[in-house]
Amino acid sequence: MAWTQWSADCTACAALCCIELPFDAGPDFGHDKAAGVPCRHLQGRACLLHGDLAARGYGGCARYDCLGAGQRATQTGPGTFAGFRRLHDDHLTLVAAGALPLPPDIQAARLALIAQVAAETDKTPESLEAYVTGPLPAQVRDFLRGLRSLLSHR
Ligand code: SF4
Repeated sequence: MAWTQWSADCTACAALCCIELPFDAGPDFGHDKAAGVPCRHLQGRACLLHGDLAARGYGGCARYDCLGAGQRATQTGPGTFAGFRRLHDDHLTLVAAGALPLPPDIQAARLALIAQVAAETDKTPESLEAYVTGPLPAQVRDFLRGLRSLLSHR
């Protein structure tokens, strides 16, 4: 059965973006944070700056969207957030490409790739790793590159 939850549900996530992701102090983030270290503003699963992120110097957090990778990784196990973010980003990009004026055969190829990316509902850490290191992400990138050249020659 295909996976169907492709948008973030923070209520079902263990605040993984606030733990797993690194960032550097600058215009978008108020301090340096290493990957895998809980943010200093995280209390339990809640951000103490929530609702005021941009004004407090954390606009990068306000703009970030895990695309549903967080709640999926929370279910699956530690170390799977980055892999699911990759997979969900591939899915989102393929779905967004559906708005382009593509010929029917290319649309069919796009839908086939979406089905392949969405194929497994219950990914294990091992099958996720196989996805990330396997040929499908490269196929998605090649397909999207092909679209760019197809549309630029019209
Ligand atoms: S500032 Fe808030 S949203 Fe940003 S990483 Fe820290 S806890 Fe998460």
